[in-house]
Amino acid sequence: MSMNILDLSQSELEENLCSLDEPKYRATQLFNWIYKKNITCFDQMSNVPDQLKTKLNTNYTIKLPSIYKIKHSKQDNSYKFLLKTIDDNLIEAILMLEKKRATLCLSCMIGCPLKCKFCASGSELNFKRNLNASEIIGQFIQIQNYAVENKLAAKITNIVFMGIGEPLLNLKNVEKTVKVLIDKNGFGLSKNRITLSTVGINNNLAKFINKYGIKLAVSLHFPTEAQRSEFMPINKTFSLKNLLEELKQIKLNKRDNITIEYIMIKDINDDLKDAKKLISILSGLKVKINLIPYNPIASFPEHPSEEKQINIFVNYLKSKSFFVSVRRSKGLESSGACGQFALKE
Ligand code: SAH
Repeated sequence: MSMNILDLSQSELEENLCSLDEPKYRATQLFNWIYKKNITCFDQMSNVPDQLKTKLNTNYTIKLPSIYKIKHSKQDNSYKFLLKTIDDNLIEAILMLEKKRATLCLSCMIGCPLKCKFCASGSELNFKRNLNASEIIGQFIQIQNYAVENKLAAKITNIVFMGIGEPLLNLKNVEKTVKVLIDKNGFGLSKNRITLSTVGINNNLAKFINKYGIKLAVSLHFPTEAQRSEFMPINKTFSLKNLLEELKQIKLNKRDNITIEYIMIKDINDDLKDAKKLISILSGLKVKINLIPYNPIASFPEHPSEEKQINIFVNYLKSKSFFVSVRRSKGLESSGACGQFALKE
């Protein structure tokens, strides 16, 4: 059976080509054609000899998920894409356009096993499977092509792994994607323009971030073990204490910091005492705090914090010299806002 070449890392492709009696450098050439020159047909690769083209056509395919539906939100100039996998599952990705930036939010799973109570991806979708590398990088390829063809952007400039799924639970395929994104023979994106968002799983977080030097956002959300476990069941297995320990292992450049994501839910975690607790657990870490007013979903009947309370929270954190921002969610109108990824067509 032929293999989807987009599922292979460059080193895997090198090994594969070796077993077909081909030299390693052919893998670099192929990467260049596929990712840099955007050619997805072996026969169009002009510096590939005919006998290799025959081998490639026999052993490999190049298959991408297809764009199935697009919804534009005029309010914030974001585009929600639904893509279809070969086996007919839906993938959701959001393109957010600003003056100088085109940010793509990628999904890494079909459904999510974490089941955070406030998040539609886990509570309203069953976890089906991890996405393959070809399906993660495929979102990028298809949406970048669409954006260019429709003159929405010259190219995608920033990537956030903040769509459906937990990147650290699909690390192998997320890693392949990150490699292709930053590789000079791939898309050549700067590592500073890639952000991975995670709840923190096992002890592979610092190792991974340090290896690639990409940016990290952490879904911390609740400042005590009890609260975090109540709303984020993963905390019972991988505790806040563990997470904070792990964050201390992250190597940061001078100007960098870790983003702490903090959802603001009315009367649940938005009291001044929560803010105090939060800064006490973050002491010694170089962070900026991103407050995300809760985007209501049907299965979790709570409310976002009120503006007045958000301001009290913000001012307190600022008074303690923390960098704070409030995320006014993109894609609200098209139900593509954080935690509302539930594949509504
Ligand atoms: N599993 C990863 C990737 C998802 S990122 C993670 O948890 O980090 C999506 C971000 O939106 C996370 O910070 C998530 O906690 C947050 N989020 C989820 N549901 C939300 C909601 N209803 N309102 C606001 N933010 C939400």
